[in-house]
Amino acid sequence: MKFLYLAESNIEAQIIKHKLQQQNIKSYISGGNLHIAIGELPTSELYVKMYVDNNDYEDALVFIKDYKKKIEEQLNTKWSCSECNETSPYSISTCWNCGFERL
Ligand SMILES: [Zn+2]
Repeated sequence: MKFLYLAESNIEAQIIKHKLQQQNIKSYISGGNLHIAIGELPTSELYVKMYVDNNDYEDALVFIKDYKKKIEEQLNTKWSCSECNETSPYSISTCWNCGFERL
């Protein structure tokens, strides 16, 4: 098994796992969900390590590169508020200046 990707949350890991599955790539998740206990941090706050089988590694890596690129593009994209014309990063869905909701 090879280490593939460090997901920011269990949710992200599940999304990637599902997408890899669609390409017939089996992935393994370790971290977050293995340590669920009452009183601990919510699993969504923990980093989650993802692994794939050695023979799937190259294909999975291609997917991850593409995935990271899309996330970066999203982070770098800005949108203009239709109320006050301020630009906010795409990751924020309400205008940081006036609180107007992105349409
Ligand atoms: Zn605004």
